Amino acid sequence: MDDTDSVEGGCTTWLATEVIKELSDFDLIGCPRLVRLNPNVPWKTRGNGAVSFTFGKGKGNKKKIGEIDGSNIFSFENGVSIDYNGREILERIKAVVLQHSHPDSEPGIVVSDVFLPEGLYWQGVADIVTEDILSDALHGTIFLGFRGSRGVCGAACSLAWSGTSHNMNEIPHTWELIGYREESNWGGNRDISTDSVNKVSDLEGVFSCIDSDGKIAMVPNSPCPVLWGFRGTEDSVLIDNFHNLGPEKPVRWLLYRTNQATDDHLRSKEILNVKEGDCIRVEVAVSSVPETIEGGHRFFSVKDSFGEMIKCAAFEPSKDFRHIIDKLEVGDKLIVCGSVNNDTLNLEKIKILDLVTRYSKPPNPICECGKRTHSSGKNSYYRCKACGKKYSRPELIAFESELELGWYEPPASSRRHLSTPASMMLKL
Ligand SMILES: [Zn+2]
Repeated sequence: MDDTDSVEGGCTTWLATEVIKELSDFDLIGCPRLVRLNPNVPWKTRGNGAVSFTFGKGKGNKKKIGEIDGSNIFSFENGVSIDYNGREILERIKAVVLQHSHPDSEPGIVVSDVFLPEGLYWQGVADIVTEDILSDALHGTIFLGFRGSRGVCGAACSLAWSGTSHNMNEIPHTWELIGYREESNWGGNRDISTDSVNKVSDLEGVFSCIDSDGKIAMVPNSPCPVLWGFRGTEDSVLIDNFHNLGPEKPVRWLLYRTNQATDDHLRSKEILNVKEGDCIRVEVAVSSVPETIEGGHRFFSVKDSFGEMIKCAAFEPSKDFRHIIDKLEVGDKLIVCGSVNNDTLNLEKIKILDLVTRYSKPPNPICECGKRTHSSGKNSYYRCKACGKKYSRPELIAFESELELGWYEPPASSRRHLSTPASMMLKL
């Protein structure tokens, strides 16, 4: 299911806990799945996430993956299918969704016996799903959309995600353990200490907890039911350590398998083929020095190996990332990742592949008479105003950039859910 108007996906995932409660006569097979879709579609909210589950009769090992109102939630490693009435299931979920979804949202529900073709997921995460593609994919399913079909699209794409594909960064999936607040606290300040966040942020595989300036990134600011989202590459690390967060404790928590931090939304593309709305990754050389405009945003141009140019932007919320951008010089080789809006690539991260030698101007020569000379114009000689003697231009001083090769990115709190953090990028 998907609720396209949810803030940060928080409401959709809280709805997920309600659905699990409602369908407690079934077993959960595998973990609930939180699937983020194209962050660049014009109608998206920042989260653009959809949730899907497999229900059935559990078989084999089970493990605890959550707690809802005092009841343990288990996920079975395997399951057998059981007879069910799809219409009835849809009605039961519909009742939950109608009771809890925001009046402006466009929720969608899809019930299916099988996972949908994975091509639909890739269309939904990196492109636009057309009505034709969607109606083909929905063949054989039972579905329902409220106030529009956007929610159906997200729900279907979520059912098309396998979480096992070998993408560019070789991260097929990650995990998020989400804690939820007591309903009476929704909208109020969250009482999560920086100390408790620091305690969990350095654990193996854990990411996006805190910014380098100390701002807590794992606790949302929106008035949604989410207390925190605890992300990592190992589900057991999350389950074993979330109790250290506090002092406010969650009344519900649930583990999700997600496509967050996979970079699945990025496609390798030549600049010539880039179209509005694309999320791309391309190797380029800097072709103009970065400029700062009002508001602290940075702009510079790059060109690819075919000489095609595109303007790049690092906006104010990217904070210290802009100080890296400021130090780039024409000719530096980069991989740039980001999304294209108004013919400008909004940077999600860069990799510095090669740095050209920098040059600085030496001081003006001192004349024999002891006075400092002055330049007579660009590329021209230097002249002493006192005695009129001319001197040729001194050689520029070459020096190495203080930048280091590697990946650079904005802080976690301004990063997209789908972006792979620099710390997790392959060290190639
Ligand atoms: Zn002189």
